[in-house]
Amino acid sequence: CGVFGVIGVPDAANFVALGLHALQHRGQEAGGIVAYDEREGFNNARRFGYIRDNFTKADVMQMLPGSLAIGHVRYSTAGSKGHTAIRDVQPFFGEFSMGGAAIAHNGNLTNAAALRRDLIDRGAIFQSSSDSECIIHLMAHSIHKSLAERIKDALRAVEGAFSVIAMTRTKLIGVRDPLGVRPLVLGRIGEDGYVLSSETCALDIIGAEFVREIEPGEMVVIAKGQVASSRPFNPAKSRFCIFEHVYFSRPDSILGGRSVYETRRQIGVELARESPVEADLVCPVPDSGTPAAIGFAAESGIPYGMGIIRNQYMGRTFIEPTEQIRNMGVRLKLNVNRALIKDKRVILVDDSVVRGTTSRKIKDMILDAGAAEVHFRIASPPTAWPCFYGVDTPDRDKLLAATMSEDEMRDWIGVDSLKFISLDGLYRAAGEAKGRDASCPQYCDACFSGEYPVAPSDQIAKGFTM
Ligand code: 5GP
Ligand code: SF4
Ligand code: MG
Repeated sequence: CGVFGVIGVPDAANFVALGLHALQHRGQEAGGIVAYDEREGFNNARRFGYIRDNFTKADVMQMLPGSLAIGHVRYSTAGSKGHTAIRDVQPFFGEFSMGGAAIAHNGNLTNAAALRRDLIDRGAIFQSSSDSECIIHLMAHSIHKSLAERIKDALRAVEGAFSVIAMTRTKLIGVRDPLGVRPLVLGRIGEDGYVLSSETCALDIIGAEFVREIEPGEMVVIAKGQVASSRPFNPAKSRFCIFEHVYFSRPDSILGGRSVYETRRQIGVELARESPVEADLVCPVPDSGTPAAIGFAAESGIPYGMGIIRNQYMGRTFIEPTEQIRNMGVRLKLNVNRALIKDKRVILVDDSVVRGTTSRKIKDMILDAGAAEVHFRIASPPTAWPCFYGVDTPDRDKLLAATMSEDEMRDWIGVDSLKFISLDGLYRAAGEAKGRDASCPQYCDACFSGEYPVAPSDQIAKGFTM
């Protein structure tokens, strides 16, 4: 998911709509905005589909006046898996004795099922199936007088990954979980306006200036042009999601002071060093494989070419929730550039192999177009474990790498060779010169290593074994 909030500018909701549009890659199923205006109070709009199709229309935007607004783009992970109901679309809003508050959450809470049962027993009436709604109910049970303190209380009770943006009538609030699994940055706009955003690319679109990242375990409360920082949680070593660098974030964003594009290009360089192969052409699987393919071509000296052309009007396939749509997605979205591919030995560079169905279809398309050989190079290690922190990987038994060795995957996909970047290579590409520190990894890499930095307690209760 993506979150974005603005305080201290007129018609803040317009800026939020633009910011969410720049974060659309983080979730395409639905979007929502809550705005506060002194005369009009809190207003919200929640819609299925793209931001540009919903939050550009005057009738919707006129409903959202005020100089304080937050928003969310949704990509379903926990909760209504596969189908989003409008009641699951964030931000969530609650009325408290001291006024209203809205929250938008990116990440996934790993103890939400247990919390929900407990909250329902204590009288909470849930409106959605989303894990994030727990935060509102936990706030309702807090005894603190200030809403910011109640948010602290609520977030001390949850486990897992959360980058949360919240708003009251006067404050914009941002919090990152102690491990800082999901990104969140602070920006400035205008005289004394402030912005919170999942990624820096969304600051650029509204001309906001990047100030700094919200740190893991940090809470910022922004009001009247002042930013107050506090540390509500026990200190922990940060474990940012390495898959944000590989796939999830936009290449024009800066994460942890590092260009996402540069990390991806460097992954291609590392891959070419680790797993070279003789060939005539390096092709990205667009768009997610493109920077790594550029790096692979540069390092190997093999020419780069666009052997696969992407239809710009389709979304990211994996964000579409059902298997059927996902299956159609590949052909609707990608087509082979036959004139370039014919009779060539082709290296295809993609970001990840999850179920393996995409790779298999792309291989078919490339061979149909007359390629002499097909070699896959993958910009992440084998995805052998599900993510419980906000990226929608399927159950473990559907992950190709959970049941097959690299050679078995190569044969199942049906290509001449298949190689994944090593975990160390990935860490080097992300700027860790010495690679992965096995005793205390610098990132979360659970989907590759099976080492979960936060025990997924709801999953364990359901029988998941690590
Ligand atoms: P698959 O191997 O499942 O057919 O798809 C892999 C390709 O689609 C990769 O290029 C990746 O970008 C994307 N992808 C498809 N499904 C998922 C998913 O559930 N999780 C992730 N992380 N990526 C996926
Ligand atoms: Fe990111 Fe993978 Fe960790 Fe999920 S399990 S947070 S995708 S590194
Ligand atoms: Mg892809």
